[in-house]
Amino acid sequence: MNNPELRYQALLTTLHERGSRLTSHRLALIRLLSTSEGHPNAMQLYESLRLQFPTISLATIYKTLALLKDEGEVLEIDLHNDSHYDGNKPYPHPHLICTQCHKIFDGDEITAIQKINQEIEDRYNFQISRHQLVFYGMCWECREKTDR
Ligand SMILES: [Zn+2]
Ligand SMILES: [Zn+2]
Repeated sequence: MNNPELRYQALLTTLHERGSRLTSHRLALIRLLSTSEGHPNAMQLYESLRLQFPTISLATIYKTLALLKDEGEVLEIDLHNDSHYDGNKPYPHPHLICTQCHKIFDGDEITAIQKINQEIEDRYNFQISRHQLVFYGMCWECREKTDR
């Protein structure tokens, strides 16, 4: 994981530069995004913030996410009408999705991605600006449960 404190500062700077009012709601949201625990979707962010901020609106969450995405400060993982967000690693990286527990894991240490990008550029003369790679399967926790 990238240093969540640095990510928080980066998100804060972005909001500030875009002239967003730094309300307690927005600050709490970017605090949550900077750790990106479990790659939450907007509803999950809303649900966890609502405990502390009962008046927070889903619209604020969507607006802030859209702005940060525009600025390249969060990565959107678009899963058929259900977008999840990574504010800790805003650059494109693969994700591993467990079909049992539905957790989303980072696959950012897969080194072959560079090679794949290179091969696509060479073979198809195609300049890649971003990618979205998702692998479905069963995570180690679920595998351990089924092995027992
Ligand atoms: Zn699992
Ligand atoms: Zn991620």
